[in-house]
Amino acid sequence: MYPALHSDVLNHLSSSLPITSLTFHPFDDATSSKKEYDTNIMGRFVCSNDSCTSTGWTSKKIAITIRLYPDDEYNARVYHQRCKKCNSLSRPFLDEESYAERIAYRIKKWYGVDVERPVYDETKRTKPHNRELCEGCKAGRCSFAE
Ligand SMILES: [Zn+2]
Ligand SMILES: [Zn+2]
Repeated sequence: MYPALHSDVLNHLSSSLPITSLTFHPFDDATSSKKEYDTNIMGRFVCSNDSCTSTGWTSKKIAITIRLYPDDEYNARVYHQRCKKCNSLSRPFLDEESYAERIAYRIKKWYGVDVERPVYDETKRTKPHNRELCEGCKAGRCSFAE
């Protein structure tokens, strides 16, 4: 999880929500959540294995699960990916804009705020999704798993 990006999410929400404050739920907890939604964001990976020769990789298909909890709390679980070269599990550096935008959009939907569906150009020009390397696919949570 990336609690440090909470302020970016708030920036994207401005004052449009019908609640006084939105808080980041500090626990990655599926059982107490009221709602959840699987989607994907962009980011880049550096292999976590120091002896690996991989120069890292970017992904437009990082799986995340956004959750809403009681008392106006939310959080998002970001799934890691494995390195193509050495299979080490690596945590991404997120594209903060895509993270905040995607979460803010979902939260507005959940609170009944009118939103236009953002336009994403990611469907073209991207490489096929590698299910073997995606932890979201493994958890059955990836929107690219088909
Ligand atoms: Zn590697
Ligand atoms: Zn996947």
